Amino acid sequence: MVRKKSLKRSVRKSVKKRVNKTTNKRKGRTAPKKSGKKVKYIIVTGGVLSGLGKGVVTASIANMIQSQGYTVSVVKIDPYINVDAGTMRPTEHGEVFVTDDGGETDQDIGTYERFLEKNFGKKNNITTGQVYQEVIRRERNLEFGGKCVEVIPHIPREVQRRVREVASEANADFIVVEVGGTIGDYQNILFLEAFREMHLHTDPVVFVHVVYLPVPSNIGEMKTKPAQHSIRALNSAGIQPDFVICRARNELDEVRKRKISMFGNVPIENVIAAPDLQTIYEEPLVFERQNFAKKLMRMFNLKYNFQSKRMVAWRKFVARVKKPKKPVKIAIVGKYFDIGEFTLLDSYISVIEAIKHASWNYGLTPEIQWIDAKQFESGKANMKLLKAYNGIIIPGGFGSSGIEGKINAVKYCRENKIPFLGLCYGLQMAVIEFSRNVVGLKGANSTEIDPNTKYAVVDIQPEQKALVEGKQYGATMRLGAYDAKLKKGSLVWELYGKKEKISERHRHRYEVNPEFIPQLVENGLVFSGVNPGRNLMEFIELKNHPFFVATQAHPELKSRPLRPSPVFLGFIKAASQKNGKKRKYTK
Ligand code: GLN
Repeated sequence: MVRKKSLKRSVRKSVKKRVNKTTNKRKGRTAPKKSGKKVKYIIVTGGVLSGLGKGVVTASIANMIQSQGYTVSVVKIDPYINVDAGTMRPTEHGEVFVTDDGGETDQDIGTYERFLEKNFGKKNNITTGQVYQEVIRRERNLEFGGKCVEVIPHIPREVQRRVREVASEANADFIVVEVGGTIGDYQNILFLEAFREMHLHTDPVVFVHVVYLPVPSNIGEMKTKPAQHSIRALNSAGIQPDFVICRARNELDEVRKRKISMFGNVPIENVIAAPDLQTIYEEPLVFERQNFAKKLMRMFNLKYNFQSKRMVAWRKFVARVKKPKKPVKIAIVGKYFDIGEFTLLDSYISVIEAIKHASWNYGLTPEIQWIDAKQFESGKANMKLLKAYNGIIIPGGFGSSGIEGKINAVKYCRENKIPFLGLCYGLQMAVIEFSRNVVGLKGANSTEIDPNTKYAVVDIQPEQKALVEGKQYGATMRLGAYDAKLKKGSLVWELYGKKEKISERHRHRYEVNPEFIPQLVENGLVFSGVNPGRNLMEFIELKNHPFFVATQAHPELKSRPLRPSPVFLGFIKAASQKNGKKRKYTK
């Protein structure tokens, strides 16, 4: 214990010393950043178990700092060999979150974007694969000057270089880094080493460790032992946490705080509770109540202002969300139902959040139901189930499973005037349905599902063909932000505030086959948004329907709590209007 206590004091002192040094340095010799300012780092690690909500803790810390007027960027570290998340099944990894610059990143990047109302890019997600790929590339280029290239120090150095690059490009005052995985895992050691070194040598770094406190049902008492072990495991990597965040069902009491403080070697005031919440967006406020941000800022010799404009707005927003409201019932017709609800939620997290943002905007509480598309495969049985909902969404997807059920669900929504929103694959399903049942092209399909279809109304984009044939799958889809020119007078044009040009993010290989467009238009399908450069169909809609809109893009990715997606706003508004008033088409 004696040894640990002195370690604690020296670590805390060294943070202060470094911060002071930074401030003093400011006028004279500056750090090698473009901006000339010394960036402050907050490193978030997690222990005890995965799925702790470390992403929300990280986003909440960044949110509180940003509210103080600082420029904050966030980095997620994923200790896997995949270069990015794009090649993983959603059931394996959760949602692949696409950034404006076409990055296929971890879903936590989405959480950061929502909490900070800011766009991040591919560089904000670092993986082991990227780090090794770059070190090996440089070695092959003789960039190490004939030296032996080793795991230590070259791998941690590359990690540091990448994190610093994010800081410099964002001109950031603060970088919050979330180290993925659980402490004690073999695979995140090198990342911990990178930050241990930064803390020791050069930068102002504060470590935040997130733990879980279980309440075993046979005991009924909150236990701290796994958390204590986790802190020790972190110590063995040479890192002493400055703060311990205690995730648990409830707030932890004084007794448990004292235990964690004592055995974890952390001042008691730096043991912070993070109980389960009605909404994740409340987390920054729970932290604020415990003066977490104030204490954090004090470690960097900075003041905290509780009344910052943004924090006040955030408080108002959370208060609004927590008030009981009228429900709006939304069904998502999809697949992946064999994997359990938790994974399912993870796979479509941005869609769910976008539904919430839009519903809250209208003072509604969304009730979201998952419906397995497979039960609609016959086209007759069970279809009426859909009547119970105010609106139906068909989200993105790949492959042929559940496809006929989805197509039947679109038909039911079209014929029964149920508000319908199709996202990416959802647009492709809607085009297939319209081609088959309105245009009369029997057997129309996407070549992704039936390569020999007579009517390939959805087909692979020409430049994608060669990539797939050459098995070049990684980061090669049509990815990231693309413009759409909106048709004047269309519903989508109205929803986007009558803007002529908008931008949304994409992730797909197939497109509406241009050969069939004249036929589809003749039969009443409105192409209300088109990519100007490539003449690629981005939005479709139907007249004489309360709301029938689908997009090749993923507008859910840009929905923010205080700035919901225009498409989702339109959908939820239509869903909340009883017996859906028919919308008059203005042109
Ligand atoms: N599978 C479809 C395509 O590749 C749709 C992809 C998606 O929904 N993101 O075009």
